[in-house]
Amino acid sequence: MGKFTLHYVPYSLTLKHVFTVASGSRSSTPVVLVALEYDGFVGYGEASMPFYLGESHKSVLEFLNKVDLSSFQDPFLTEDILVYIDSIASGNTAAKASFDIALHDLIGKMLGQPWFRIWGYNAEGTPETSFTIGIDKEEVLKEKVREATGYRMLKIKLGLDTDKAIINAIREVTSVPICVDVNQGWSNKEKALEMAHWLKDQGVVFIEQPMPAANLDDNAWLTERSPIPTIGDEAVQRLGDIHRAKDVYSGINIKLMKCTGMREAHKMIELARALDLKVMLGCMTETSCAITAAAQLAPAVDWADLDGALLISNDVFDGMWIKEGRIVIPERPGIGIKIS
Ligand code: MG
Repeated sequence: MGKFTLHYVPYSLTLKHVFTVASGSRSSTPVVLVALEYDGFVGYGEASMPFYLGESHKSVLEFLNKVDLSSFQDPFLTEDILVYIDSIASGNTAAKASFDIALHDLIGKMLGQPWFRIWGYNAEGTPETSFTIGIDKEEVLKEKVREATGYRMLKIKLGLDTDKAIINAIREVTSVPICVDVNQGWSNKEKALEMAHWLKDQGVVFIEQPMPAANLDDNAWLTERSPIPTIGDEAVQRLGDIHRAKDVYSGINIKLMKCTGMREAHKMIELARALDLKVMLGCMTETSCAITAAAQLAPAVDWADLDGALLISNDVFDGMWIKEGRIVIPERPGIGIKIS
């Protein structure tokens, strides 16, 4: 039996464009890159920490410093190892995800298989992925839409008082289906319902996190009446949140950085399906490492929004790509990446 060695290094992702959502703007995102070594194999992982989620270089490095793998000798005991990782501290979901992804990459490499195949998913069944466009001036929005020609779906950030103007501007330059992410930006349920009807007429497919996550009653009221599905994102972090989301939203947005990684994301998809919830797979600003790890789950979801690596100019990995709007998962073992 071998021995684990864990390495990690802070890194900063540079965004190609300043990215604005209802809660603020940013031009870079801190990440931590992780490598887990065992028996000559190396698995890679990543934690991404947009400021509004409460994790940072400091908190992730502190968390990873506490990881003690001396009592584990078998990497295939993922339940034992990842339950231990989760027990080190509460929260720290991105830090936990970085380890989880590295362990999955390691195991896949030891087995010589990509994870979509280990899980039994058909790589031909990946959904189209949306390209996210942040809140911006109309001219910049139009320019970004023109840059996103390879995509068959756009995700538009809303939630300020410019929502209709933004959608009108987008519709002047493209007719592709749109999904919108309000990031909890609407506060009035009647106005939200009016917007849902208007958005449906503009070719909008679903609305992500329309009102504040804490406001269960209003989100449930809207979901019951909305002509298009609602998706809970900020309201649903981990497996244990799904039962509460069941009667509040039409579906949920699963992200590796929120749910501690691939193991729990896989369980969340199974549970959401059993409860008849729609499933969307999202991301933070991430390199191709965490994005391609998430892509392994893409054949099992309704919608994917895995564009994080395309929004940055300093990716360090080569991984999934987009062909005719659809996700292509590389035929490489583990999470499917190589260092670029
Ligand atoms: Mg969202």
